[in-house]
Amino acid sequence: MDEIASLLTNTWSRTISSSYPPQKIEFTGTLLIQLLFFWLPSFIYLFLDVLFPSFSARHKIQPAPRQPTRKDIWRCVLVVSGNQVLTTGLHALQLFLAAKVGREGSYRVEAALPSREEFVRDFILCLLLREAMFYYSHRLLHRPIFYSKIHKLHHRFTAPIALAAQYAHPIEHIFANALPISLPPQILGSHVLTFWVFLAYELFNTATVHSGYDFFAGKARMHDLHHEKFNLNYGSIGVLDWVHGTDRLVHKKRD
Ligand SMILES: [Zn+2]
Ligand SMILES: [Zn+2]
Repeated sequence: MDEIASLLTNTWSRTISSSYPPQKIEFTGTLLIQLLFFWLPSFIYLFLDVLFPSFSARHKIQPAPRQPTRKDIWRCVLVVSGNQVLTTGLHALQLFLAAKVGREGSYRVEAALPSREEFVRDFILCLLLREAMFYYSHRLLHRPIFYSKIHKLHHRFTAPIALAAQYAHPIEHIFANALPISLPPQILGSHVLTFWVFLAYELFNTATVHSGYDFFAGKARMHDLHHEKFNLNYGSIGVLDWVHGTDRLVHKKRD
């Protein structure tokens, strides 16, 4: 364990002392995290029934007739790729503009690692801030005016797949998916490594809860039910659903 820690520390300080500007390190690392913790697990989940058929059958939440067609999956790949290009482009623009006013980046890119206390504090605060931003923006998206124009697209998958986590209108992708993850560590002035760990956790989590499999203590079942029934489980952790009573099925209206 100590060897892994010192290897990581050395690799990180070598990266920082290299000639790469901090903006380039932040941009490349963020893109790499998205590829490794969203795209890769999403494709593994997608091919789980081919790779491990009996394991897949045991954990699949909804029955085969409700699963998306091949055409639905291709459309999903296209929309999600578009959203990836959009947020990557916006991140590049943000770094470009920051450099223009003499700022080094959106997060602290420095050789010293964050202390354990700082890391734990920032990670927990990021989780809570993200939950609040996601829960309330998601509830707003279920208001009829926003639902029909924006959020209906995400609900096209009543039996979701991992990639469908980012199958969303560009406005929803920016305000409900990207900003609730990228803003909290910027507000807190977090170290870029803390942001990357938080981003990796959230991306893997969202891919898993949309995967259609019942892994991780019923987390996927919770959000799967949101896609199936619409008016419950708006949040991710579940605490605000408990506070607002949206952790139970409401039969009368779609809100
Ligand atoms: Zn929804
Ligand atoms: Zn969803």
